[in-house]
Parts: sequence; C-alpha cells; structure tokens
Amino acid sequence: RARNTHEPEFLQAVQEVAETTIPFIAQHDIYNGKNILLRMVEPERAITFRVPWVDDKGEIHVNRGYRIQMNSAIGPYKGGLRFHPTVNMSILKFLAFEQVFKNSLTTLPMGGGKGGSDFDPKGKSDDEVMRFCHSFMSELCRHIGPNTDVPAGDIGVGAREIGYLFGMYKKIKNEFTGVLTGKGLSWGGSLIRPEATGYGTVYFAQSMLERKGESFEGKKVVISGSGNVAQFAAEKATQLGGKVITLSDSSGYIYDKDGITPEKLAHVMYLKNEKRVRIYEYLKKYPAAEYHENKTPWEVPCDIALPCATQNELNVNDAKKLIKNGCLCVAEGANMPSTPEAVHEFHNGKILFAPGKASNAGGVATSGLEMSQNSLRISWTREEVDDRLRGIMKNIHDKCIEFGDENGYINYVKGANIAGFVKVADAMLAQGVV
Ligand code: NDP
Repeated sequence: RARNTHEPEFLQAVQEVAETTIPFIAQHDIYNGKNILLRMVEPERAITFRVPWVDDKGEIHVNRGYRIQMNSAIGPYKGGLRFHPTVNMSILKFLAFEQVFKNSLTTLPMGGGKGGSDFDPKGKSDDEVMRFCHSFMSELCRHIGPNTDVPAGDIGVGAREIGYLFGMYKKIKNEFTGVLTGKGLSWGGSLIRPEATGYGTVYFAQSMLERKGESFEGKKVVISGSGNVAQFAAEKATQLGGKVITLSDSSGYIYDKDGITPEKLAHVMYLKNEKRVRIYEYLKKYPAAEYHENKTPWEVPCDIALPCATQNELNVNDAKKLIKNGCLCVAEGANMPSTPEAVHEFHNGKILFAPGKASNAGGVATSGLEMSQNSLRISWTREEVDDRLRGIMKNIHDKCIEFGDENGYINYVKGANIAGFVKVADAMLAQGVV
C-alpha cells in the first residue's frame, strides 16, 4: 500500500481481491506463507513512452503511452488499450490487475496486461487518429508479439484504431500475425468479437437469473454507456425479451419508456459509431424520449441494471436507489463500475450482483478464440463462436458458485476472485520465484 498511495483505483481493485482471497489463502497450506498476493500486485513490467504526433494544422502534440505487463504465469499478456484523457498508471494498473483474474476465469491460456494513452480521440479527425495510432505502435511494437503480449480494444479503441495499430505493426515487423485482437473480419478478426463483451454480460446475467427461476422476458433493463459494450448488451437483452429503457454517455442519459427497439438501437449505433456525436441527438429522431444531462441512469426504476460505461460510475446512493426501486440483478459490463460501498450495499440487500471480472469476461474470451483461429489459420462461423462464448460464460458462472456460496447466497465477487486466483497462483508456485 505504501508503495502505491498515489494510485487510488489500483488500491481499490487490490483491496477488493485481498478481502476475499486472504482468508482463502490462510485456510490453504499450499498458498499460505508464500507471499503470493504480494507477488501478484507488482507488475512484471510497466512501460511508459512518448507518443509524438502532428495534427491537421501541422502542430506537434505529445501524449504518454503505457503498457502494463502484469502477469504471464498462465499465458502471454492479454488485455485492452484505452485511449482517454483520464488514463494514468493507477487506472491501467487496476485494469491490468483485474485482467489477470478475468483471463484466468475464462479457462483460456492468457496472462494479464493493459495499456493505452491519455490521448483523447474525441473531436479528432480520422487522419489525426491514424497518425496518433501509428506513432503509438512505432514504440509499442518492440514490447508485444503473438507469443508475448496481445493487446485489444477498450474505451476509445475500436475497430478503426485497431486497424491503424495493426497496419503499423505489420509494416515494422514485416509479418502478418495475430498480435492484436478485435481485427476486421477480412484481416484476421473473429465473428462475434465486437458483440462479445455485451453479449457475454447478458449471458452471465441470464445464468444468474435462471438460478432464481427468472429471465429477461418482460424485464425493464437500465444500461449506462452507449459504446461497444453498452450497444451489444442492449441488443442481446432485447433479443432475450427485455425492455432496454436507458443508455448514456459522459454528458447524460436518455430514457425511452417505450423501449430502445432494434430499430432505435441501430440509430444509436449510427450516431455513436459513424457520426460520433452525443447521445442526446437520439431525441432529434425520437422526441418522446427524455434526456437527463449530467446524470446517471440508476435513478430510473428497473429490474436489471447493466453498468457498461466506466469505473466508479455507480456509487452507494445509486445502489440504494436501485434496490429501493426493486432491482433484482446487477451485472457489470464495464470494469469496476460500482464503488466498493455500492458492492457492499448489493451484498447486504442480497440481490444478484456480478463483478465485471466475471460478467464482462466474454470480450477477452472471444479475443482468445480469435487468437486460436489466427494460429490455426481458420475462421469459425458466427454460431460456433457464439456457442463457445455462451459455454465460457456459463462455466465462469458455475466457477463463481463453486467458490462464492455463502449459505445459499452467492457472493459472485468472492467466487470470481478465488476461482481466478487459484489457477494463477498454482502456475506461479509451479514456476518458482521468478
Ligand atoms: P467505448 O469507448 O466504446 O464506450 C465507452 C462508453 O462509456 C461511452 O458511452 C462513453 O461516453 C462512456 N464513458 C467513458 N468514460 C466515461 C466517464 N468518465 N463518465 C461517463 N461515461 C463515460 O468503450 P467500451 O464500451 O469498449 O468500454 C466500456 C467499459 O467496458 C470500460 O469499462 C471497459 O474497460 C469495459 N470493457 C470493455 C471491453 C471491450 O471488449 N470493449 C471488454 C471488457 C470490459 P463518452 O462517449 O461520452 O466518453
């Protein structure tokens, strides 16, 4: 803790894992006294680098690039790249740490990493984004590789950015390999990868609900965010019979009491992915909806809540409101969107709560499937990938139950942390103190 006092998000993520794994370690001789958690919290390697780039007016800018290679005990480092002005060492270390446990839960051989830059893609032209991505990759390329570290997208890094990054890697290395995931379909990408995090979050929630004899059918679903994860969580929730009534961005949220139908969602995708404008533009086409500026959607009564925007976007007061309004299930699509106090509130209220490291693992799992397809030089069908994704999410759900049962109430946080820990810890013990 003393070493990382200036890294609040990282400490928050570590604290949450420590709370549940330390008692487990104490009860198991093979882990006890080996300082295994102490070894896990220190990144194997943390790289920062200069990213200079030229804007459309010819002015030179400098951003900071990062890659945190957290843990490679069970496979090459794997985890997304985030481009957002708030990116710093604390945010990326928290994300990389979470990624280690998440990747372990998928059962695929992937270690944990995360990276990105404080570059803000908002308001930049395509050419500026391209020049930035090329500069970023001209340095990152020496630290990654298909058997070393395989980055993917995250906030601010979608198909466009992955394309520019891949192009520069290929040029410098003179090789066409699966060094990034989230690639376009015609150049090594996997079907279902864009959908995977959102779909996976809904599959996970579905498993939780099924255990209680419930389903999405007829349920009101509140979703935050309107990016990659939120869009496909909304799509799958609707396909399963739910009625999605909110979406948001960092400016506010829209509330459509009639439900965001597939046609309306297609319009959101157009606004966000092609026009790249604010979510309130939705009202221009659908004026019956409401827009609430600078607010989060947790005040809207719902049965199921899916936070899919960013870390710490749902606080203890939001959690209280959700419970008071009868919400029965919260599944995190984003990474650590609920504050620790909010999580305690969900547990006290005994509602179904899934932490991101379990419920949003579908994205990285499908990235793992993309790596497999790249290695085999084949492409699986949409149904094949979706079936595997569904199977992986069910498996993660069942692992959480195995380790998280507290007299009938499933503490999915505890279950995910311990199940993720065991596999990585076993590998680290087998490999010795390295
Ligand atoms: P996108 O960039 O596609 O979308 C992010 C969304 O969150 C946007 O609507 C954005 O609004 C909103 N947002 C970002 N920062 C803030 C903020 N500070 N306050 C309020 N809203 C904010 O990213 P993704 O959908 O890919 O990622 C969303 C979350 O899911 C992140 O936590 C990410 O780590 C996590 N995740 C993503 C995976 C993936 O496969 N993409 C995999 C696993 C987890 P605005 O446009 O206004 O910034």
